[in-house]
Amino acid sequence: MLAAVYQGIGKIKVEEVDKPPLPLGGLLVKVSCCAICGTDYKLLITENPRFKPPLIIGHEFVGRVVEKGAEVTDFQVGDRLTMATTISCGRCELCHRGLGNLCESRICVGTDIPGAMAEYLAIPALALQRGNVLKVPDGLSDEAAALSEPLGCAINAQLIAKVGLGQTVLIVGAGPLGCLHAELARASGALKVYLTQRSEPRLSLARKLAVDAVIDASAHDPVSEVRRLTQGQGADVVIVTAPNPKAQEE
Ligand SMILES: [Zn+2]
Ligand SMILES: [Zn+2]
Repeated sequence: MLAAVYQGIGKIKVEEVDKPPLPLGGLLVKVSCCAICGTDYKLLITENPRFKPPLIIGHEFVGRVVEKGAEVTDFQVGDRLTMATTISCGRCELCHRGLGNLCESRICVGTDIPGAMAEYLAIPALALQRGNVLKVPDGLSDEAAALSEPLGCAINAQLIAKVGLGQTVLIVGAGPLGCLHAELARASGALKVYLTQRSEPRLSLARKLAVDAVIDASAHDPVSEVRRLTQGQGADVVIVTAPNPKAQEE
């Protein structure tokens, strides 16, 4: 099968590799689509010690079950699914405290085991036992469902920030996560949603979203612009999705 294989900093090559066998008690999935995460993209620029080449990358995917272990009852061949791709052990203290994302024995798809930028993906039994695998409802496109992992990060952040009814929310940065945050804030009942961005083509993209204003941060100071838009009140919640330290300080 073909797969995108990380071969060291700056080198990701599509090449022929062996199709993975069905894991014991797990699933074999034919991948329909896989999004490019910021983590994948950064491998082109800088080293990440967690990624040991050669490695098939990719973890934001949708696929269909083509083979299942005899023990598997919750999934059938043909089911369309996606996954929370950090598989925690379920046995350590952190897992028992509900902090599986910090589990020291966690296994991440596309980092510790081969990822989804490939024609086929092997999903281990542990992922099924831990509830990481999710069926995709009919009516949701493969491309939209593949974003469930970054959307999960956004939902977690907005729960922590307590985004809710009637609030004014400012999102800094209209990259993929900024756009997800904007739509999510709206869905969570925010009254006003503002998005700031300093460059094209993301500015034009942001203007297509259901936000109340898009602030061009290269032309206007976002802080005074938000004060003006809110009659001096400012935002209730500010979510910074830009890695820029200046944006984070403001
Ligand atoms: Zn990701
Ligand atoms: Zn654990």
